Amino acid sequence: MARVVFEQVTKQYDNGYVAVKDLNLDIGDQEFVVLVGPSGCGKTTSLRMLAGLEEITSGNLYIGDRQVNQAPAKDRDIAMVFQSYALYPHMSVFENMAFSLELQGVPKAEMRDRVQSAAKQLGIEPLLDRKPKQLSGGQRQRVAVGRAIVRNPAVFLMDEPLSNLDAKLRVQARAELSRLHQKLGTTFIYVTHDQAEAMTMGSRIAVMNQGILQQVDTPQNVYEHPNNVFVAGFLGSPSMNFFDATLQAEDGELKVQAGSLTLPVPEEMRSRYQEYVNRPLILGIRPEGIYTSTYAPSGIQPFPIRAKLSVVELMGHEAIVYCTLPDDTEFIARLDPRAKLTAGDTLDLQLDTSRFHLFDKESEQAI
Ligand code: ATP
Repeated sequence: MARVVFEQVTKQYDNGYVAVKDLNLDIGDQEFVVLVGPSGCGKTTSLRMLAGLEEITSGNLYIGDRQVNQAPAKDRDIAMVFQSYALYPHMSVFENMAFSLELQGVPKAEMRDRVQSAAKQLGIEPLLDRKPKQLSGGQRQRVAVGRAIVRNPAVFLMDEPLSNLDAKLRVQARAELSRLHQKLGTTFIYVTHDQAEAMTMGSRIAVMNQGILQQVDTPQNVYEHPNNVFVAGFLGSPSMNFFDATLQAEDGELKVQAGSLTLPVPEEMRSRYQEYVNRPLILGIRPEGIYTSTYAPSGIQPFPIRAKLSVVELMGHEAIVYCTLPDDTEFIARLDPRAKLTAGDTLDLQLDTSRFHLFDKESEQAI
């Protein structure tokens, strides 16, 4: 069993900086959890504490049933893949992969079998005699993963292992790691600042900001029901559009007033929002919650708006369009590229009011 638990874990560095604050995170055996957040939010520190490379300041860490607060790194039964891969340049791929087994005193024949088997899984058998400098970036990344696999650890930790690869290779390697996780059935904890990587790889994602865990859930739930403005803005590209807003009660109906927009609140949401009438709020609408009239799907709750298209980026499968309302409010829409989209034109669009998000302006929490 390789359940991993962070219980109220805090890390304060010697200079007084609190990099991780009261982290509570319960990762199930065989789960693939991604820690995601902007640079400096404490992801790597969290992983390094778990690996035993950094001491925790307070709280408890468990791997399996064991509390490992003080356990040396080598006794934690984990393997870490670093962003830099940290391969030994003077050793061959085989020697790099065998190194940790040699330290453990694993017999030579077994060592060879384990390296061969990991190399086969990763398709790097023909490279075993090469030195790291004779490998491409993608091959090095596989060797780094292979070095972790041979140890047969209870938990894999990965710190931005794909960030040195070009965009195409990264997408490919992403799928390879997901397949590897399914095959190995081992707990994976993966750190990235790339929200697309987090959304596609994790069975759950843990979003961090400024040392504080913001939300943990499946990628889809976090995307559709973000807890707060930070999470809403961090996941999704282009980001969610935000507007200052208030809720108004009129003739028994609730409306969201945001600049020149007055949007009806769908009936099923009315009771939830009633107490926020006249309080300052933030309205969030994702770029894909906006459609051209021609290509709006059925099943949305459409609200018509007219907007001027200031910039149109045609991407093949979609168009990212920067729009401006008559009151100069700007927003971004992700539109069907088959529509006639010309910068400078004014176009009728539809907002799907069933997909808007409201946040309390002061606390920035979803309401
Ligand atoms: P990145 O994606 O850039 O690696 P991260 O989310 O992994 O960022 P951490 O490396 O965990 O962030 O760092 C969290 C914060 O702690 C940062 O502000 C960093 O400057 C600070 N920090 C990291 N190591 C130390 C240290 N040894 N002493 C003091 N502060 C540190």
